Amino acid sequence: RAKADPIRKICFYKPEMDEALRARRILAADLRDALARDQLSLHYQVQTSIATGRIRGYEALLRWEHPQIGSISPAEFIPLAEENGLILPIGEWVLRTACREAASWEPPYKIAVNLSAVQFVHADLAKLVRTVLAETGLSPERLELELTETTIFADQKRALHVLREIKALGVTIALDDFGTGYSSLDTLRAFSFDRIKIDRSFCCAAAANPQTLAIIRAVLGLGKSFGIPVLAEGIETYDQLSMLNSEGCDEAQGFLLGRPAPLGQIVGSGQITLTRESRTLRDGNGAS
Ligand code: C2E
Ligand code: MG
Ligand code: MG
Ligand code: MG
Repeated sequence: RAKADPIRKICFYKPEMDEALRARRILAADLRDALARDQLSLHYQVQTSIATGRIRGYEALLRWEHPQIGSISPAEFIPLAEENGLILPIGEWVLRTACREAASWEPPYKIAVNLSAVQFVHADLAKLVRTVLAETGLSPERLELELTETTIFADQKRALHVLREIKALGVTIALDDFGTGYSSLDTLRAFSFDRIKIDRSFCCAAAANPQTLAIIRAVLGLGKSFGIPVLAEGIETYDQLSMLNSEGCDEAQGFLLGRPAPLGQIVGSGQITLTRESRTLRDGNGAS
């Protein structure tokens, strides 16, 4: 109804927009203090081999517990932090904390850390990674950095240069949320990623949608021809996992295998065994 009457629309929406803008400004100010006030923490989500159930590593996911609002999703506050540059100190804190916490893990699983485009453009990322590895004693091949197609596209030339420096340290690079952006196949080749993560939107839709299944097959074929393992994100059901297994997908991550959880609650054993009968969607963490 508001659409039919442009004037009404303006009158009706403007206060809401002010409200939204004010809320964002307050949130940005609070985020500035969040680091200092110890409101940020990391959760870890397991990544496993599909064929064997063997744990290969954990992805660090940032969490913000706001004293008044409660927990705020990174999908909401990361873009805010990118706008005002706070992503630089926050990203550094994430990298340092994840490496420090992972350094003591036994067995020595891999730790995957998400990177923002801003960290590529405005920071000497290779130097930071080198420093953090030295400080925490984490061996470089245990660290994987996850970046999205958007990250590369912000400044492709620079991204390529920085990634080469980082890979020279022995750190591996995963292409996150693959299929949602605009990378050409040639970009994939040029960046020589160590792993492709298929976006979760494809994995959950595949069972119901033959075109989505075709996309998954294409990505798996791409991984095979480039010799890159493919990880499927957002696996919530046993049927999804078993479909990916028969399609030849290498690795999986998702609520079925384990929800993101604080350090003290993640699985210690080397393997997660699932059967159709034993569970559909896991509500806790760790093999029971
Ligand atoms: P991402 O890197 O693709 O991380 C995967 C997201 O999917 C996480 O959301 C995770 O909780 C969620 N997820 C995992 N399994 C399932 C599932 O089975 N079903 C569903 N529905 N969701 C699942 P989260 O933690 O809210 O993070 C959202 C995004 O925020 C991340 O997407 C990443 O892009 C960004 N992010 C998180 N932590 C950081 C960080 O430390 N630095 C940067 N730059 N970005 C981060
Ligand atoms: Mg990720
Ligand atoms: Mg992802
Ligand atoms: Mg994402």
